[in-house]
Amino acid sequence: MNSSRYREAAEAGRTPDRRNQVKRKRILVVEDDRLSLIVLRQLLTAQGYEILQSPEGWDGISRARNEEPDLILMDIQLPDISGLDATLLLKQDDQTKDIPIIAVTAFVTPEDKAKALKSGCDAYVAKPVNISNLLRTVESLLPCSPPQ
Ligand code: MN
Repeated sequence: MNSSRYREAAEAGRTPDRRNQVKRKRILVVEDDRLSLIVLRQLLTAQGYEILQSPEGWDGISRARNEEPDLILMDIQLPDISGLDATLLLKQDDQTKDIPIIAVTAFVTPEDKAKALKSGCDAYVAKPVNISNLLRTVESLLPCSPPQ
């Protein structure tokens, strides 16, 4: 291996650490489906995000108030209130209104998308989740400042 290839390898090895340091943001995943939750948690943890989770709408709202995550991934079909109603409530509350919310749902008609955005969701990602699309959407909504 020549020296430039060594350097490339060394830089490739360093990149994940640097990314993790920059991206130590907390994401609340409100999702009642166990498998979806596991997939999202693994995916986002691998990117260096810290994951908080909630299986229900009301619990998700109180976790958002108590823990002030940097971003929320909101499933729409939840066992108690819908993710859209939870989003409406979070966006009406001064304490939580600035937290970006991404609706994650299997509802894919243009009307459903419009409804999600009308409820105050900042973005919309369809299930099954396209990984690069989800990560791009998450990054686009997180403030760029380094973690405190
Ligand atoms: Mn669900």
